[in-house]
Amino acid sequence: MPVISIKSVSYHYPHASGSEPEALSGITLDITAGEFVALVGANGSGKSTLARLLNGLLRPTAGEVLVDGFSTGDKANLDRIRETVGMVFQNPDSQIVATSVEDDIAFGLENLGLPAEEIERRIDEACRRFGIEALRQSEPHWLSGGQKQRAVLAGVLALQPKVLVLDEPTSMLDPRSQREFLQLVESLWHEGTSVVYITQIMEEVASAGRVVALAGGEIAFDGTPAELLSNHQLVEDLGV
Ligand code: ADP
Ligand code: MG
Repeated sequence: MPVISIKSVSYHYPHASGSEPEALSGITLDITAGEFVALVGANGSGKSTLARLLNGLLRPTAGEVLVDGFSTGDKANLDRIRETVGMVFQNPDSQIVATSVEDDIAFGLENLGLPAEEIERRIDEACRRFGIEALRQSEPHWLSGGQKQRAVLAGVLALQPKVLVLDEPTSMLDPRSQREFLQLVESLWHEGTSVVYITQIMEEVASAGRVVALAGGEIAFDGTPAELLSNHQLVEDLGV
């Protein structure tokens, strides 16, 4: 069974005018457990909308998204789905809620209702893993962009999601922090986490086993990075 199954999904933003095209139309896509899928496409092609559909932040206007077999259309499934699918967005500031790095990581864990010792253990582990032990007491506000994004990833990873969805997580980082961040994501993938990695940075696509490209809310390509990169016309048409 695929870990995420997207079945004939369309999405129209409720306050968009009737004449505006759907943000997504007729998307069908299965993501197998253990895959690293890069999702590319020009601005406005529907990438972020698709990301928000994967954990039930948005519900399809038509069709269905199944996470581990559970439909995002049923509110009763949403807690379970959000534990399964961890999200990292473009701007870490939008995702940081507490006044210290460790409190921020603890926040999500407390929401899961875990015991205090387990929370402490997971914070230790996540901070060690992401090289932010020295920053535990720091105010997130004062960290560099790369440090903030690592703190966000640590917070998401501490929740031990099966699937990580990252929406242009490195677009605000310098090239060195971009590479370091991608390496962390790759190491999580090697350990079994499924990854959906949204990017406009073509070098980042090379890490993926599979690339899906969106154009105008539809799937324009689904194949390997090598196949995509060798099709210059397609790359040009995609406008990425
Ligand atoms: P991408 O992430 O690929 O840049 P988006 O998913 O953000 O694309 O946007 C897809 C389409 O949906 C665009 O036409 C965009 O203008 C529209 N859209 C995105 N967010 C909203 C919103 N909150 N309300 C109305 N329309 C939106
Ligand atoms: Mg986007």
